Amino acid sequence: MDTALLIGSAFEAGQETKEAILNPRTGGLILEVPEASTAQVDRAVAAARKAFEGWSRTTPAERSAALLTIADRIEAEADAFARLEALNCGKPINAARNDEIPAIVDCFRYFAGAVRCMTGTVAGEYLSGHTSMIRRDPVGVVASIAPWNYPLMMMAWKLGPAIGGGNTVVFKPSEQTPLTALKLAHILADVLPEGVVNVIAGRGQTVGSYLINHPQVDMISLTGDVATGKKMLDAAAKTVKRTHLELGGKAPVIVFDDADISEVVEGLRAFSFYNAGQDCTAACRVYAGKKIYDNLVADLTSAAASITLAAEDDTANEIGPLISQRQRDRVASFVNRARELNHVQVTTGGEAMDQGFYYKPTVVAGAKQDDEIVRREVFGPVVSVTPFTDVDEAVSWANDSDYGLASSVWTRDVGRAMATAARLRYGCTWINTHFMLTNEMPHGGLKQSGYGKDMSAYALEDYTVVRHVMVKHG
Ligand code: NAD
Repeated sequence: MDTALLIGSAFEAGQETKEAILNPRTGGLILEVPEASTAQVDRAVAAARKAFEGWSRTTPAERSAALLTIADRIEAEADAFARLEALNCGKPINAARNDEIPAIVDCFRYFAGAVRCMTGTVAGEYLSGHTSMIRRDPVGVVASIAPWNYPLMMMAWKLGPAIGGGNTVVFKPSEQTPLTALKLAHILADVLPEGVVNVIAGRGQTVGSYLINHPQVDMISLTGDVATGKKMLDAAAKTVKRTHLELGGKAPVIVFDDADISEVVEGLRAFSFYNAGQDCTAACRVYAGKKIYDNLVADLTSAAASITLAAEDDTANEIGPLISQRQRDRVASFVNRARELNHVQVTTGGEAMDQGFYYKPTVVAGAKQDDEIVRREVFGPVVSVTPFTDVDEAVSWANDSDYGLASSVWTRDVGRAMATAARLRYGCTWINTHFMLTNEMPHGGLKQSGYGKDMSAYALEDYTVVRHVMVKHG
């Protein structure tokens, strides 16, 4: 397994504290990865700065070709990447191999195409005797910081538009899940000119903090917690860096009485518990019409209880463990506090398992709008269900959140679906589904979920600056 950092064109061991990388299925040690020293971060930023001169002047076709090669190389090693991600995160191998790796490959391919189609919108004479045009140019050196829930996919979402747009990058994976990033670094070093992407490992409060405060960094891109996002903004203020923030979520799911209950339950079984609920778009906050509520709780309870996890044959597993003991204990404490409320029933799950960092799929019924379990991001396999009386109540409860990333509406009535979707203050609203992403469409939030868009042409816009060039005639 690769543990070396990529700085410029060289692979070198981190010079600081060793970080233990644990197997979430067992709690056992996989290996240790030494983190970068501040001198190594300085060199990584300097390498990115130097590479910017050349990379920012490559043609879209040249950058596109590099992105396509990266995609091909990941695809050629799909199995190895999937196994490594499954090991480091505890993901079922099928989820890593069949869901994530193809989406990652497609992300690089999407940006390979998109960058060749990126245009400035204007060319014309807005002052007589002068021609104006709009250019979209790269921002500069991007500090990219990723979370642990989808390590390689977040890397793809960040690198695709950043390098496609002509920027250079210093990338830091989560200290808990650096393995696929360190493996991808070898492909990046083969395909890209020296210094275009640098990969450094280490903790947020040491390596991450030093990186985002670096005066030679022009932009900070984070997918992570709201509290971490606020630290990025503080750091950015010092030298007025650009920021691209994808923070947490607490997705509301509005289920009207006329919804197809079997589709809702099948959907929630998949979309609430996928990746053990460690997903900022997880369908975790259900509001159900009064007539459908009892049946929905009963059916969702059976569906959640039927999810396979911790099976010896990993191909049978539908979800894995949580990433760490800390995360499992955090999830357990949310559920335990909810259970103490008289109006709440934990209808299934509600306990950790006797192995690794597993927590059972859990349904918390009867939760009220002001309950912590309804308001705060749990980031685990836990769904709350709350009955509502009418559409106004459902919409106001759904919108009554600090978060604004994803939401869904379930009904057979198209008009009701559209009218409700129009009132929701979320970056995405799905109708009669949830969780479905595609590289052509943007992913990103409102409110404290942040404002950067990942995927789609909008991500390319976020990683480029609009410039005006004016030519005087004669
Ligand atoms: P986190 O904020 O603790 O860590 C994210 C990254 O930030 C890690 O690489 C970490 O090392 C780094 N970091 C932490 N403190 C830092 C600091 N002071 N300076 C620089 N870097 C620092 O988040 P996490 O626990 O890894 O991931 C889970 C969170 O991410 C959840 O809140 C989840 O909702 C959110 N998330 C959001 C999205 C989205 O698209 N909106 C996607 C995935 C995860």
